[in-house]
Amino acid sequence: MSDVNEQGMLSYCRACESKNRIPFNKLHRKGNCARCGMPLRHVSQVMHLVWEDIFWRCVRTASVPVLIAFVHDVSSEKELEAELEVAASCAFGDYAVGIVELERNPGLANDFKLKELPTMILFKQGVDMGRLVQRLGGKGFEMYVRGLIDYQ
Ligand SMILES: [Zn+2]
Repeated sequence: MSDVNEQGMLSYCRACESKNRIPFNKLHRKGNCARCGMPLRHVSQVMHLVWEDIFWRCVRTASVPVLIAFVHDVSSEKELEAELEVAASCAFGDYAVGIVELERNPGLANDFKLKELPTMILFKQGVDMGRLVQRLGGKGFEMYVRGLIDYQ
C-alpha cells in the first residue's frame, strides 16, 4: 500500500528509493522518478487514505475513477487487501484503488449510509457510481470497475 497525504500519493522509486509525490489530479499519468528517471509504479498501488479529509480530497480531485474499500480496520482485511492489490496492478492509470478505515473515520459510515463492511464504492469526481458488498476474487474488482467505466 502507498502512503497518501492531502498533497497526493507517495511513490518510492524502486531504483533510487527517492520519494515522489503524485498529486491526485495526475493519477492517470505513468510518470518517472524525478531524480533518476525510472518509471514509477504508483498507478499499480493501493492508496491508504488514513483520514477523512484526505479521502474527500482524493475522490473529488482524482483524474481517474477511484474504487474505495470502506473497511473497519485494514489489519483485519488482509485477503481483501490482496484482492485490491490485484485490481490496482491491472489499473495502468485508468483508475485508482484506495482503502479507508471506519475505525478512524466513523462519520463516513453515515455519509454513505454503509450498512455492511467492507463496502466498495466506485467514485468519479466525488460521485458514487456504484457499490458492492461482496468480494469478487481474482480479477473480479478490475472487471467490475472497467464495466462501470465503460458504461459511462
Ligand atoms: Zn529514482
